[in-house]
Amino acid sequence: MNLEEYKGVYIFAEQVDGKVSNIAYELIGEAKNLAEALKTDVTAVLIGSGVKGEAEKLGAYGADRVILVDDPALKEYRTEPYTHALAEVINKYKPEIVLIGATPIGRDLGPSTSARVATGLTADCTKLEIGDFPLTVPAGKEDTQKHNQLLMTRPAFGGNTIATIACPNNRPQMATVRPGVMQKRAKEDGRKFELVEFNPGFTPNKRYVEILEVVKKISDTVDIMNAKILVSGGRGVGSAENFKILDELAEVLGGEVSCSRAVVDAGWKPQALQVGQTGKTVRPQLYFAIGISGAIQHLAGMEDSDLIIAINKDEDAPIFDVADIGIVGDLNQIVPALTKQIANY
Ligand code: FAD
Repeated sequence: MNLEEYKGVYIFAEQVDGKVSNIAYELIGEAKNLAEALKTDVTAVLIGSGVKGEAEKLGAYGADRVILVDDPALKEYRTEPYTHALAEVINKYKPEIVLIGATPIGRDLGPSTSARVATGLTADCTKLEIGDFPLTVPAGKEDTQKHNQLLMTRPAFGGNTIATIACPNNRPQMATVRPGVMQKRAKEDGRKFELVEFNPGFTPNKRYVEILEVVKKISDTVDIMNAKILVSGGRGVGSAENFKILDELAEVLGGEVSCSRAVVDAGWKPQALQVGQTGKTVRPQLYFAIGISGAIQHLAGMEDSDLIIAINKDEDAPIFDVADIGIVGDLNQIVPALTKQIANY
């Protein structure tokens, strides 16, 4: 394989019901960082049916080029036609890097596509960077491939260790990336980009898995990843019932309640509300950490929040190392007092 043939950073622009998902814009933001380091450009691959109108938004968020694969066979996500479409784009354009969201769709499409184009894939990445990766080469040989590798970092062994993985001898270097981790760039309406319509050559009358019915389940838990204000509680809250004081604070602030893993393990809140390495990665404008000690696995999910306010009775709790504002004291007194103050404001 001639690695030099592979150029550019590509992202899969996931869309659902014809609307591009937020993860696509996050991936473009990160792809721009990688492309700047590699002195190359960013391409978004938009696959679907009747989705041409979405290309402009991808350009506005930073895509230099949008490759559009638009076909009635691609209306709903199905593994086979989507894998075919993305693999054909990769075979034709030879990208150096391909990023896909670690969403339910991306977790299916990533491995099937990487297998189709015979390269590796690092799943569920939380950090990406360009760097050196020294190869072990036989004595007397020169390592000519160690520069400009994509270093892909992800939690491994159930989150007990953090692994950095490279794909030195194959291209493209492929990764799925956790939603909520990467930052999208500011939208620039009217930004110029190139639109390329690509036909991956579907075999006429080929039968794929047929979708007979789509049943949409309305989730009964809130989406903490999109909340602007989170009031997060830990073991220090003491009981499921006592979360009432956090609910009241969240209500006056117009925010949502989330929690640490200790709270989920105790059965006080559902796992969908867990923040951290094995929970969700959040980046709200305001994050209250109440009765949360600040274990590294919790910080991994919230330390990029814009403003962190910690309430803890232990002045040495590690949460205060990342907090912008720290309040030392009993949450049972502080939280209701705060709620009252804000409600009367
Ligand atoms: P504790 O560590 O018990 O802290 C409770 C805090 O409350 C203490 O600091 C205490 O001083 C304070 N407190 C008690 N009473 C009061 C009071 N009345 N007023 C004020 N403060 C009070 N954790 C996560 O959160 N998310 C994850 O995704 C996650 N993933 C993990 C993955 C792995 C592989 C492992 C090994 C662990 C993971 N953990 C995760 C667990 C993590 O290590 C911690 O055990 C957990 O975050 C602790 O939760 P906590 O801070 O609520 O509880």
